[in-house]
Amino acid sequence: MVIMTPHGMMPHRKMGIAVEGVMQMAAVWILAVWAFLALSGCAGVAQQVRSSLGLEPKQELVAALTRTPSQWEEAMGQAAAVDAKVTEGQRLNNDPALNRRLQSMVDRLRAVSHAPEIPFRVKIINSKQINAFNTGGELLYVYTGLIDYVKSDDELAGILAHEMAHGIGAHLQREQRSMFLPTIGAVLANIALQNQTAEQLIGLTNQALSAGYSRRHEREADILAVIYTWRAGYNPLGFEEFFDRMSRQASQVKQEKEKELRESYASFRQSARELEQSKLAYDSLYRRLQAHPASPEAERELKQAKERLKKSQQQHESCYQQYQQVYKSYAQSIAQLFPIFQSHPSDPERIDIVNNTLKYLKQEIPLSQTLPSVRYVMEAVEEVGGKPAGK
Ligand SMILES: [Zn+2]
Repeated sequence: MVIMTPHGMMPHRKMGIAVEGVMQMAAVWILAVWAFLALSGCAGVAQQVRSSLGLEPKQELVAALTRTPSQWEEAMGQAAAVDAKVTEGQRLNNDPALNRRLQSMVDRLRAVSHAPEIPFRVKIINSKQINAFNTGGELLYVYTGLIDYVKSDDELAGILAHEMAHGIGAHLQREQRSMFLPTIGAVLANIALQNQTAEQLIGLTNQALSAGYSRRHEREADILAVIYTWRAGYNPLGFEEFFDRMSRQASQVKQEKEKELRESYASFRQSARELEQSKLAYDSLYRRLQAHPASPEAERELKQAKERLKKSQQQHESCYQQYQQVYKSYAQSIAQLFPIFQSHPSDPERIDIVNNTLKYLKQEIPLSQTLPSVRYVMEAVEEVGGKPAGK
């Protein structure tokens, strides 16, 4: 487990914040996935992908797209192994209609994907989180928060296709690294134990935000998702709308919460300074009284200083409690936003890439006019051929 400890951290006092279950879970399963992969020497790479690692992206992608069901076994075994961890403490949604609806969307996408024989299966988790992910195998986890958030089946299909594409593109295996680390969940679970400045919390959170799949693999997943949704008859732009809307909202909430956290921290620091001054004033009066015979006036001053000290202590304690509350609220909003926002921070080229891919699929532009990031994926897709034809 990677524990992130910023340099020069000076905890003044233990911050006994109880980590919210949701974050704890996120941290736990994410670390479980990572630990599992690490323990297996990240050996969970199907042979074909493994032997292609280090080659140019196109070859790696070709290897991933042409895995046979038996070459998927390792990845599926790993997904099954972490499934219990992923769903531990979570409430699985058993609504038959909802499960049927999502599963049928997945089946429709799977049929036109590069892995039509892999039995992709949806597990719906009851949670407000806007989240969906794939753990490298055939299991797709979708949170009810995301289902409520999307505005159309096109959006949902795009997300499902994108997550399937991470699996089909063997991104977890190809990155061979702590793809899930550090995560906000892990960072927050760790930093919750210590008292950190607002800037440290924000810094760590931002660090975690940028630690999803590599941008290359995000783009691959986007492009494959456009191909699959297009082939399956969904509007591939739905997916772009979803990310666009979510990124804007997430950035806004994040900014607001960061501002709140900074302000709360400033009050907390101010109360600490006031407390320090009250202490000094009281100590100096107390020493003076020790050295000189007490006078009623001095006794009164000391009594007043003592009251001020008590008030400062109460004030400091209350600011501290408040900072904790604000921190918790910040952590919760980020935890709620991060799951999908994390690996999908706004990519300024996303819209161009999606549109470019779609134009090519509609045969409005030749391959030579596609963007480089689109071209190599298209070349790989065409090279593997022999797969379900496009629309
Ligand atoms: Zn992704």
